[in-house]
Amino acid sequence: MEVLETVELVREWRGRHRTVGLVPTMGCLHPGHLSLVRRARAENDAVAASVFVNPSQFGPGEDLAAYPRDLPRDLDMLSGEGCDMVFAPPVAEMYPADYQTWIEVGAVADALEGARRPGHFRGVATVVAKLLGIVQPDRAYFGRKDAQQLAVIRTVARDLNLAVDIVGCATVREADGLAMSSRNTYLDAAQRRAAAVLYRALTAAEASWRAGERDAESLRGRMRAVLDAEPLAQTEYVSVADPVTLRELREVGAGALVSMAVRIGRTRLIDNLVLGG
Ligand code: AMP
Repeated sequence: MEVLETVELVREWRGRHRTVGLVPTMGCLHPGHLSLVRRARAENDAVAASVFVNPSQFGPGEDLAAYPRDLPRDLDMLSGEGCDMVFAPPVAEMYPADYQTWIEVGAVADALEGARRPGHFRGVATVVAKLLGIVQPDRAYFGRKDAQQLAVIRTVARDLNLAVDIVGCATVREADGLAMSSRNTYLDAAQRRAAAVLYRALTAAEASWRAGERDAESLRGRMRAVLDAEPLAQTEYVSVADPVTLRELREVGAGALVSMAVRIGRTRLIDNLVLGG
């Protein structure tokens, strides 16, 4: 496995391979990330991953400095999955001093995460477009755990006519349902137990929907009730939205995106599921 730090070396690597799958990450890898690598391995001649904690997607009060980093461990895990190349650039390689181009995404980035994290999707869209431009993969793999991010990236790829297939991959969960996330490392033991409430709330909404409930506000209320019963959890939002536009629904059909952001102590967790999915 090659570990490259410059755009120039990645370009040269790209030229030596026929079809390439790219898995962009911020490192601190877990089995969720590795499931993306496995999918890319199965569908491409060569697999590239990027490990880059992208400063431009963190807001001023967010956890950029604290974000967990362990490149040697990440590299071991990636090589164990048969990854061929890892792009791990220093910040100055991605954002040199005269850097000045940003992607402003429209309505799909306004709701939910976009509303609570101003500038977040501008940073995500820009870094993903840059990574796609650098690696020039045939396919790029993203987790459905970050459902709005996936919707934003699909929109960017469509609107900017990027010649890449954006592939969405299922959320990998712990035994109690907690979606795997690098940020789970922030949780102490009691918080970790409490964090299972997100998935319980999502599955409670799903059960209501399967039992015939079609009113979105009732499903939101069902999720709030489950979350409110966990004293360590503070709900930021619950949502029942169209999976493509992210607009809130009134009546709920199959395919609706049920999602939430919840704080457990100082740790902000997000999760979602697609009804009937
Ligand atoms: P991150 O390193 O958190 O930026 O995530 C990198 C990629 O891995 C993104 O496309 C995420 O959606 C995806 N990902 C993160 N956690 C999971 C998970 N539990 N299951 C599947 N994909 C995930």
